[in-house]
Amino acid sequence: MIGGALALGAAAWVGWAWLPHLLTPACVWHGPRGARRVALTFDDGPDPDWTPRVLDALAEAGVRATFFLLGERAVRTPAVVRRIAAEGHEIGNHSWSHRSLWLCGPKATASEIRRAHECLGALAGGPPRHFRPPWGMVNAAMFPVLRRLGERCVFWSIQPEGRRPVPAARQIAHVMDHAHPGAIVDLHDAEGTRAAPARLLAALPPLLEGLRERGYAFATVAELLSTRD
Ligand SMILES: [Zn+2]
Repeated sequence: MIGGALALGAAAWVGWAWLPHLLTPACVWHGPRGARRVALTFDDGPDPDWTPRVLDALAEAGVRATFFLLGERAVRTPAVVRRIAAEGHEIGNHSWSHRSLWLCGPKATASEIRRAHECLGALAGGPPRHFRPPWGMVNAAMFPVLRRLGERCVFWSIQPEGRRPVPAARQIAHVMDHAHPGAIVDLHDAEGTRAAPARLLAALPPLLEGLRERGYAFATVAELLSTRD
C-alpha cells in the first residue's frame, strides 16, 4: 500500500517536474548563429557590493549585458537595480527567492515568477521580458505563467562555473574554447556558489578582451534574440 502510494507520488512528480524538461527545447538556449555576437548574463543579484563592481567593469569596456535578478534581493537594493537599467543593461526575472521550481506547486510557482516580474518592472521602468529558472529547473506550471506575463524562458549555451567553484583562469579558458556566434554565457554576480563574484570579477576583464579579440560583439539577450539567422 505504502509502496503503491510512493510509486504514484513518484509518477506524479515525474509528470510535474521532469516531463516539462522535454519542453525546454521551446526555451531559448542561444541566439542566432549568423552574427558574431554573444550575450553575457549575470544571475542571482543584485548584490550591494559586487554588482556595482561588475557594472564598473562593463562600463569601462563599453559592454551591455543582461542581469537576471531576484525580486527579494532587488527590493533590498533598489538603487543598484536602477543603475543597471540606467546604464542600458537588460533586467531579466530570476524568480522572487531562488526556490527551485521542482519544489513549488502551481500557486508558489505563479507567485515566485509574478512577484519578481512586478517588482522588477516597477524598479526598472518596464517589465522583464525574459525569465531564467533558478538552477535551470522548470515545472509544468511555469510555461502558462510566463505566457501570461509575456516572458520567455532563457537558459544558456556556455556555463563556465556551476555549483562547484572553478578558478577564474579556467573559466576564461572555458568561455574562449566554447565561444560561438549567438552564445549566451551564464555568469554569477552574487553569492550562490561560494565566492563566485570574486572569481567573476577577476575573470571579467580578460574575458571581455578575449572575446573582442576573437571578433565578438556584445548584446543583451533581447538584442541577441531580436535578429534572425
Ligand atoms: Zn540562480
